Amino acid sequence: MHGDIDRILIPRQKIAQRVHELAALITADHTPPRLAGSAEVTIVPILTGAMVFCGDLIREIPIAMKIGLLTVSSYPGRSVSSQGVQVIQRQLENVRDRHVVLVDDILDSGNTLRMVVPLVQQMGAASVRTCVLLKKDRPAAREMAVDYVGFEIPDEFVVGYGLDFDNYYRNLPDIVTLKRDVLEARP
Ligand code: 5GP
Ligand code: MG
Repeated sequence: MHGDIDRILIPRQKIAQRVHELAALITADHTPPRLAGSAEVTIVPILTGAMVFCGDLIREIPIAMKIGLLTVSSYPGRSVSSQGVQVIQRQLENVRDRHVVLVDDILDSGNTLRMVVPLVQQMGAASVRTCVLLKKDRPAAREMAVDYVGFEIPDEFVVGYGLDFDNYYRNLPDIVTLKRDVLEARP
């Protein structure tokens, strides 16, 4: 697995530092006086990619919260570009009148958030905010308004820290690029 890495784009220590900062921003926005009223928070990782990031993030947000799950697929199998977004499974419980934070691994075409944000709004959420660990430097991503962004990265295919290629590499602790021959190898 480690032999497949081309280069480390964001090492684990930098990720941990930024996760800490993002958690502080989210906490501040969901605590009085910035947050009025008694509505509670639901954090929703968009699976499978946001699983690792969200696991680290929520442990640094010291407020009452529930977790909802949304499983979405846009890069099935060995795809390295979006094939259209599909919601595969949702376990959201009731988000009516709750403050929802959608957490995704990476903002690329923006299609995932463009589809999932209205879905949660239609369920009657009190507010919907979005958080992505990575944002690609490409026009489609630049145009999307996201509330919390970890890092801006070049328009390259990355894996690790939850992000996959053919469902592998999610357990790499750093964000990395893969060698060209790994991406091009026939299954
Ligand atoms: P979007 O819907 O914004 O195009 O892309 C969001 C989803 O596409 C991400 O949650 C992720 O699953 C997948 N994706 C986009 N870019 C990359 C990438 O560079 N590497 C990996 N592994 N997945 C990506
Ligand atoms: Mg994803």
